[in-house]
Amino acid sequence: MAEENKKRIAIFGSTGSIGTQALQVIEANAELFEVEILTAQNNDVLLIEQALKFRPNAVVIGDETKYEAVKAALGSTDIKVFAGENALVEAADFDTYDMMLAAIVGFAGLKPTLKAIDKGKAIALANKETLVVAGDIVMQRALENKVPIIPVDSEHSAIFQCLIGELRNPIEKVILTASGGPFLGKKPNYLVNVKKHHALQHPNWKMGPKITIDSATLMNKGLEMIEAKWLFNLHPDQIQVLIHPQSIIHSMVQFEDGSIKAQMGLPDMKLPIQYALAFPHRLANESPRVDFKRVNVLGFEEPDTKTFRNLTLAAQALAKGGNLPCVLNAANEMAVWAFLHNRIGFLDMTAVVEQTMDHITYIEKPNLEEYFESDGEARNFAASLIKI
Ligand code: NDP
Ligand code: MG
Repeated sequence: MAEENKKRIAIFGSTGSIGTQALQVIEANAELFEVEILTAQNNDVLLIEQALKFRPNAVVIGDETKYEAVKAALGSTDIKVFAGENALVEAADFDTYDMMLAAIVGFAGLKPTLKAIDKGKAIALANKETLVVAGDIVMQRALENKVPIIPVDSEHSAIFQCLIGELRNPIEKVILTASGGPFLGKKPNYLVNVKKHHALQHPNWKMGPKITIDSATLMNKGLEMIEAKWLFNLHPDQIQVLIHPQSIIHSMVQFEDGSIKAQMGLPDMKLPIQYALAFPHRLANESPRVDFKRVNVLGFEEPDTKTFRNLTLAAQALAKGGNLPCVLNAANEMAVWAFLHNRIGFLDMTAVVEQTMDHITYIEKPNLEEYFESDGEARNFAASLIKI
């Protein structure tokens, strides 16, 4: 394919787990993709290395104190260097890319992603928090700007793939599968003593620290329920969570005739990443295949919502809507940060989220400004509980 036909990708969060795997996909398919923008928050060393290798038009380093170091290291190239939070939004406003891979973690991904949508850019969405916080506004703007939002999250990629060819067929329900994380089957008397190095060991997926903790507390699945509501326009009753420890079925869709479609594969984030980047095409690759002679059991069980109460809290936020998912997300980001810094225990994370949800004033139909305010208020209140 000619150079000018390559899809120009802007990777927001290129130094993370999703970002680095996306670059592997791009490297393996260099005739299809080129890198236009790379961004990092703190990791200047990796950002520089990536920039020298992939030669984007521009890079953004969030931490402004690292600007000089990045600028100096890229001084011999014509790569533009920007720094700071506002620069992320300014870079998202560039004309020179075709698709944004939204791979920043947390609320910080919202503003640049909204800017890309307003700019009419296709979005490959890993940053689920963007939809949890302001899903109504994000999806409305995507509709107005005719922007496709292609999920990267493996469950939502699975649902998206199951829905191909089913445009006119209503969904009866979606079944979001969950591995159960490292503490599947454990009870509160065990979890109370769990430390971060236990929680950071995920059985099936290697991911960034925040989502790994969210997977251990099942908050990740709660966030994914809310993400599914917005992506696929579902009613809360249509979203079921099912524990499936092997992570072979990435999720399922049940139609009105009772027929169920599942998307399967080995747990490897490069697959949903490459699917989103190349959609509607599938790219050939050499990654290992599922061998059903070896995976001879696919197990399923109900989630233990009495122990993993985050799932119940997220279901409440999903059902009530308004600013509650935004508040849940903000409190959870604070709680996970505190747990990762050994400030609070594993079960305290749920307590922080629950108390913050109870405390912050409910707004039924927030505008964007009110979402930002709710996020800030929830963070402040959660911080007061954590005593930071
Ligand atoms: P990582 O923590 O590995 O990477 C996060 C990326 O975002 C890094 O590039 C980081 O920069 C950057 N970043 C962090 N904080 C900020 C900030 N405040 N402003 C701007 N950039 C920031 O996360 P993951 O790759 O694991 O996850 C990214 C997103 O994808 C999350 O929303 C997650 O839920 C979702 N996701 C991830 C999956 C996975 O397998 N990892 C699976 C499904 C969804 P730096 O490196 O400099 O800190
Ligand atoms: Mg997922």
